[in-house]
Amino acid sequence: MEFNRINPITGEVASSAPALKAADVPPIAARAAAAFPAWAAQGPNARRAVLMKAADALAARKDDFVAAMMAETGSTAGWAMFNLTLATGMVREAAAITTQIAGEVIPSDKPGCLAMALKEPVGVILGIAPWNAPIILGVRAIAVPLACGNCVILKASELCPRTHALIIEAFAEAGFPEGVVNVVTNAPEDAADVVGALIDAPEVKRINFTGSTNVGRIIAKRAAEHLKPCLLELGGKAPLLVLEDADLEEAVKAAAFGAFMNQGQICMSTERIIVVEAVADAFIEKFAAKAGSMPSGDPREGTTPLGAVIDRKTVDHVNGLIEDAVAKGATVAAGGKADSVLMPATVVAGVTADMKLYGEESFGPVVAVIRARDEAHAIELANDSDYGLSAAVFTRDTARGLSVARQIHSGICHVNGPTVHDEAQMPFGGVGASGYGRFGGRQGIDSFTETRWITVETKAGHFPI
Ligand code: NAD
Repeated sequence: MEFNRINPITGEVASSAPALKAADVPPIAARAAAAFPAWAAQGPNARRAVLMKAADALAARKDDFVAAMMAETGSTAGWAMFNLTLATGMVREAAAITTQIAGEVIPSDKPGCLAMALKEPVGVILGIAPWNAPIILGVRAIAVPLACGNCVILKASELCPRTHALIIEAFAEAGFPEGVVNVVTNAPEDAADVVGALIDAPEVKRINFTGSTNVGRIIAKRAAEHLKPCLLELGGKAPLLVLEDADLEEAVKAAAFGAFMNQGQICMSTERIIVVEAVADAFIEKFAAKAGSMPSGDPREGTTPLGAVIDRKTVDHVNGLIEDAVAKGATVAAGGKADSVLMPATVVAGVTADMKLYGEESFGPVVAVIRARDEAHAIELANDSDYGLSAAVFTRDTARGLSVARQIHSGICHVNGPTVHDEAQMPFGGVGASGYGRFGGRQGIDSFTETRWITVETKAGHFPI
């Protein structure tokens, strides 16, 4: 049985993929578990070599990735290429850390006792990835787990099964031993059953999930029944603060990139621009002009900065947020509602706490501008959110920027940079409704290894009884 993914712009079939059911999960989990001992026993350079080949194999599929992302998600070629570049970088970074998965020797009070903390592979790791940055997030779900000596099962998104399958094809070509890298695709209506079966599979020892906060809660509860650790990368409502001493040109550029790259469908997307009164009018004027200069279009026909949003549901959701805000007194400074998936870059000014746009993730090309009295009020507004993934603050006073950054409740904050920024070696993750756990850097190693305490006694024992 297969299921189809529909092209959001044309309504034609973009791709088909196997529609696996919950009953198909046990043999896949068993296959992965069977491959684990030999893969875990491979030396770091053997694992590195195959990961390096996987990075090359991904890069070689450039044209296929661009075509698949355009057809399945309506994304621009630029976003597809950015995805591929960062994703290949993530695989090369994972390859580089295979020799850095180091433990430590810990001083013991017991004479003659050599005490060590060792980092060991965990077993089979389930990675669940969404569609919005499909190469980056599909690769992120499996690259460091593999580098740490685990076997993986990638649960592909129903909205981009071909894009995710291309990742697995590249990894297969690289020569991972049979059973080390696995993929599961399913029809949308089977998601709950299939994901449930994957979490329940006794061979699956840990889960990483990137997706919505609602589904994250379901995953965390199911995993908790088995006491399986989860890493959750969930939704966001990233604030970008513009203080009165900000370089407005820089703030406008960063805000436009952060709010509208990939049509605002990035977990780090700038969703709230919190600007202090003193510069609010000047900022809004410049920002609205910039947004107005960023058209959306069919990515197959041209190179507009914005492509299509993922589906009609997003169009209705974003339109609803705009309508609600306007009904409650906000003004549309650029763009506006749309009747197709080609939505304009939209700026809604004068957003207040009673409007849905103030607190709900839009995950579309609309950004709220919220006025703050001063720095302290801007920080208060920034923290008035359940989410806490990324944030940014613009000020010419770097020390002030650092001080503000440290007062914002988020996993990530950039001073004078956009909220959208990711690099393979950085600790990535959020707080609150944005989830917990970290991908990237040394934190990624901690997330995908078991830390064990091992001792060796080198002197005769003395015991009290
Ligand atoms: P989603 O949560 O709808 O879907 C993600 C996965 O969950 C899919 O693979 C789907 O099969 C599965 N799923 C759906 N219903 C399920 C159920 N009832 N039980 C178990 N599994 C189920 O997310 P999405 O719409 O694909 O992605 C968009 C969301 O992801 C946004 O909220 C965005 O902010 C978030 N996101 C977060 C990050 C991050 O790193 N923090 C990155 C990208 C996207």
